[in-house]
Amino acid sequence: MAETRNNVEKPGVTGSAYTYVDHKFDVVVVGAGGAGLRATLGMAEQGLKTACITKVFPTRSHTVAAQGGIAASLQNMGPDNWQWHLYDTVKGSDWLGDVDAMEYLAREAPAAVYELEHYGVPFSRTEDGRIYQRPFGGHMQNFGDGPPVQRTCAAADRTGHAILHTLYGQSVKNNAQFFIEYFALDLIMTDGVCTGVVAWNLDDGTIHRFAAKMVVLATGGYGRSYFSATSAHTCTGDGNGMVARAGLPLQDMEFVQFHPTGIYGAGCLITEGARGEGGYLVNSEGERFMERYAPSAKDLASRDVVSRCMTMEIREGRGVGKNKDHIFLHLDHLDPAVLHERLPGISESAKIFAGVDVTREPIPVLPTVHYNMGGIPTNYWGEVLNADHDNPERIQPGLMAVGEAGCASVHGANRLGSNSLIDLVVFGRAAAIRAGQVIDREAPIPEVNEQAVDKIMERFDRIRHADGSQPTAELREKMQRAMQEDAAVFRTQETLEQGCKRISAIWSELPDIKVHDRSMIWNSDLVETLELENLMACAITTVYGAEARKESRGAHAREDFDSRDDVNWRKHTLSWVDEAGNVKLDYRPVHTETMLPESEGGISLAKIAPKARVY
Ligand SMILES: Cc1cc2nc3c(=O)[nH]c(=O)nc-3n(C[C@H](O)[C@H](O)[C@H](O)COP(=O)(O)OP(=O)(O)OC[C@H]3O[C@@H](n4cnc5c(N)ncnc54)[C@H](O)[C@@H]3O)c2cc1C
Repeated sequence: MAETRNNVEKPGVTGSAYTYVDHKFDVVVVGAGGAGLRATLGMAEQGLKTACITKVFPTRSHTVAAQGGIAASLQNMGPDNWQWHLYDTVKGSDWLGDVDAMEYLAREAPAAVYELEHYGVPFSRTEDGRIYQRPFGGHMQNFGDGPPVQRTCAAADRTGHAILHTLYGQSVKNNAQFFIEYFALDLIMTDGVCTGVVAWNLDDGTIHRFAAKMVVLATGGYGRSYFSATSAHTCTGDGNGMVARAGLPLQDMEFVQFHPTGIYGAGCLITEGARGEGGYLVNSEGERFMERYAPSAKDLASRDVVSRCMTMEIREGRGVGKNKDHIFLHLDHLDPAVLHERLPGISESAKIFAGVDVTREPIPVLPTVHYNMGGIPTNYWGEVLNADHDNPERIQPGLMAVGEAGCASVHGANRLGSNSLIDLVVFGRAAAIRAGQVIDREAPIPEVNEQAVDKIMERFDRIRHADGSQPTAELREKMQRAMQEDAAVFRTQETLEQGCKRISAIWSELPDIKVHDRSMIWNSDLVETLELENLMACAITTVYGAEARKESRGAHAREDFDSRDDVNWRKHTLSWVDEAGNVKLDYRPVHTETMLPESEGGISLAKIAPKARVY
């Protein structure tokens, strides 16, 4: 172990002492979800000395909850190809995704899935032993002109679970070193280069200074900035917060995906795979209303579309239940054997969280926050961009971001179901390939920048000893309610302006926070407060970006600007937030060029040119 325990106890700002432990690695990956583990494995396989830091045990990362599957045009269950997958992803993104990154995703997807299979992921099988694939929303045949395509590879409805366990095992086998239940606090920045990260060992209270040639942020999404979300309580946008504090931009934060089928009241997810297997939505009149809105894709239209239709049905008085405030999802017409074999997990969730036997009754569902399309801007190698309108492609040395924390951007304004798991493994792998090219193995690992660490610890110490009047949970709930109400499925100038005001006011209340527990061992009060600051950086950039964007695109649906405006708004939002909570916005162009020319089998530019998005 390249660890030096320096016995100098550094006094904190308030006089309390911190014990520093120093490490040197070629690469430090923060996060052990699907993206972090795939990156870790790829780095370690190449012999790079790799650490993976994670605040929860790797197989407890939110990826474990992914049910439905992972998209790749394997053609195991009918015709398909990567060009169709690319087309669907471009259309799904509502023409905001970067075409080069989306092309890389669609082309590399089959190889990445076969690689997972060879690593040991126990995929469900067809009769003849191939990987089973199910239909999923927005994935269609023949450039959107055909019926749904069976593209989503699944391990029953526990696909993320299977992937995570396999990748963790493989990473350990390749000698990656894990730092489990370590909370990463901030990036160490030295003269504009990221040279490491500081983390707090939750178990013994020591502070660890990781010096590295490359830091990879794979910290997941920030669903918990909303009141009702399908994401785990650990999805608090910590990497985004660290990037914002380093003075780097976040991108496209206004695009927040609502999943159509969160269980009413509980928020737990019922996978889109349920509709893929034949489930359908009905209103209080027993009508399959999606047939009216999306005549060809019906219940398998993309998520933003289905969530809006459900919201409209409820608003127009056709919601179900006592308060007419939700929708029913029927699976009771399906063969119980199919439910048992293909959807065992959600049958159990429906029983526990809604008291429903899916073989006999419908599940009460409601659109629920599910995914963050925005995040840390990167190119398709996962290299972080310190971009602005003058330097839209400027690479930030020493830093990469992958997975839901990153924004490559392959999901643009709306992500297709099963395109996140494939994003994790394709770009986790790409980051490792790129790191192998750019890391100078002969160069010494940078020394710890003491001044930068002092600043990080000053902030930590200030929060640890915060002695205001508002408990963290109280402030967090204020933020979550403001986001839920003012940055919802449908948005208007009025709600967004109100959202900006409310979130800014909450920001100014942060100094008045009260942390009750001052200890360094398993201090969940302090963890949650650090997480709240990260969530706030995400929340404030989300509402300000949304207020500024005067159009409707993908998940950003404005009632006062009901159409997409490609002339003025086909561009990525960049946002910075400073310590005082001032948000600055700027924009960078969308990549519209393909990499493989049409003459060599690539997709034609005419095919993916913007047009009306109908399903
Ligand atoms: C219920 C549910 C079902 C889903 N189903 C599907 C599906 O079927 N198909 C699909 O494609 N997508 C699905 N998604 C989306 C997809 O699962 C996620 O986008 C994806 O798993 C995110 O992976 P990740 O590796 O980026 O982050 P996560 O899996 O969220 O992992 C984040 C990691 O970062 C670590 N971390 C975070 N902050 C810190 C810190 N400060 N210090 C140290 N470590 C830190 C955590 O410990 C964790 O290891 C689903 C999402 C949900 C919520």
